[in-house]
Amino acid sequence: MFEKYDVIVIGSGPAGYVAAIRAAQLGLKTACIEKWSDENGKLVNGGTCLNVGCIPSKALLDSSHRYHDAHDGFVNHGISTGNLTIDVSAMIQRKEKIVAQMSNGITGLLKANNVTSILGSGKLQVGKKVEVTDKQGNVTVLEADNVILASGSVPVSIPVAPVDNDVIVDSTGALEFQEVPKRLGVIGAGVIGLELGSVWSRLGSRVVCLEAMDSFLPMMDQQIAKETKKILTKQGLDIRLGCRVTGSSVNTVNGKEVEVTYIDSNGEQYKEIFDKLIVCVGRRPFTEGLLSVDCGVNLDERGFIFVDDHCLTNVAGVWAIGDVVRGPMLAHKGSEEGVVVAERIAGQQAVMNYGIIPSVIYTHPEVAAVGQTEEELKSEGTDYNVGTFPFLAIGRAVAADSQEGMVKMIADAKTDRILGCHIVGPNAADLVQQVALAMEFGATAEDIGMIVFGHPTFSEAVKEAALSVHGHAIHMPNRKRRQKK
Ligand code: FAD
Ligand code: NAD
Repeated sequence: MFEKYDVIVIGSGPAGYVAAIRAAQLGLKTACIEKWSDENGKLVNGGTCLNVGCIPSKALLDSSHRYHDAHDGFVNHGISTGNLTIDVSAMIQRKEKIVAQMSNGITGLLKANNVTSILGSGKLQVGKKVEVTDKQGNVTVLEADNVILASGSVPVSIPVAPVDNDVIVDSTGALEFQEVPKRLGVIGAGVIGLELGSVWSRLGSRVVCLEAMDSFLPMMDQQIAKETKKILTKQGLDIRLGCRVTGSSVNTVNGKEVEVTYIDSNGEQYKEIFDKLIVCVGRRPFTEGLLSVDCGVNLDERGFIFVDDHCLTNVAGVWAIGDVVRGPMLAHKGSEEGVVVAERIAGQQAVMNYGIIPSVIYTHPEVAAVGQTEEELKSEGTDYNVGTFPFLAIGRAVAADSQEGMVKMIADAKTDRILGCHIVGPNAADLVQQVALAMEFGATAEDIGMIVFGHPTFSEAVKEAALSVHGHAIHMPNRKRRQKK
């Protein structure tokens, strides 16, 4: 006889732990299996997000922003700081304390909800059995009516720049530098490249981002991407597009620097020497050791676990959520899938709205988006109207020295419903969430324009951009209403 659960979740990242908590809330006997442990062998919950992703990167972004502000920004306010220094190891320790606090918080939450936390590596067997192998190699078999696979993702590696966890690192290593590298190379000018590149650039690194694509942030609205590139370049990030890395070699004499060779889109060859090199060229789904050969679960052609619109795999009672399935690799996307799956297991008709998932790049200023871009709407032939509003004309932004950037609102030309909102500017992450909320309720640009926004707030830029869709913005001369195909 195997110990039997209603639900077994494999993986305790933001997808898995949320699914487990929601399942337990709904009265289901739930276990959550996690293989991550600390140096003392203690179970570590929270996955990539809490341990080496969202939370530690934001801790360092916050610290480095404060340093940068004190260094360059305070003077405008008449504040001088004298001889400013940065203690990198204290900054890293603060980050580690935050990570431990958050991860312990999840362990406490699982316990409080009566989820059984199990340390070990879970492998799905045929018949919804799960084999758990602990660090010593002991194997236990559990059984469940429903199994939720939430094994997450890992960084993609490239043969031209093999990670040695010293000079050449992935995103995890880039959260651990013990001193500020003078010359920092970043392969990939995507979300991680820009966030972690910004951290070290603010602390004094000369940062060069080598990006293979000719366009910058191609998935984003290109007007906002262009504005973002302008702002980040002004801050000192040297973003080189159309650059394909052809090789890297760590100096064999001092072991402390790496020479990187690359070619640009004209075929010109270049080389650069860096003290550290971060490889951040995307992440891939992680399924190693997760599925027994006869468990029957299919992967898609890119290695993601194949699921339907409700995260059900091709095997009845086996579900998969988070980074290990299609869709954006975002913590909140996985968490919401976790809630939906738990509720469907409990017999509810929950559905996930994949059309309204906000995304944010936590540079300064932040870059945030929800819904469709102008490029997507053009390619599908939808008629739309656009309103934009610059933070330069927002009193609160000017008072806060945060006037860079804009809000761009896109509405359906026939119905006026908001189709997308794209922001680069102060507090963009929180501002875009207001629009996500409005979109969930089917709001039009006119609806947002009629809402009273507090003054002076950054959010007035959202209202003004909505007003601008129909040429009614107040604090800016309106250009002729634009209707585009
Ligand atoms: P994961 O968080 O990867 O968790 C999977 C868990 O499953 C892991 O703990 C793993 O140990 C465990 N596991 C795997 N296989 C097994 C097995 N066989 N048995 C037991 N356990 C197993 N997203 C955002 O939304 N906002 C951000 O600001 C953000 N910042 C990021 C910054 C960085 C540097 C990185 C790397 C990522 C960031 N992300 C961010 C992405 C976010 O971290 C992921 O989308 C999210 O963690 C995915 O959640 P998940 O639960 O699917 O997988
Ligand atoms: P990414 O997909 O955002 O960017 C990778 C970049 O590397 C792309 O621009 C790509 O064109 C480029 N690239 C790929 N191969 C290359 C090569 N050989 N040489 C040069 N450039 C190359 O991936 P990422 O930055 O590694 O982040 C991984 C995932 O983690 C993202 O999908 C994102 O969803 C998630 N994440 C989210 C946040 C956030 O929400 N704030 C933060 C960090 C990470």
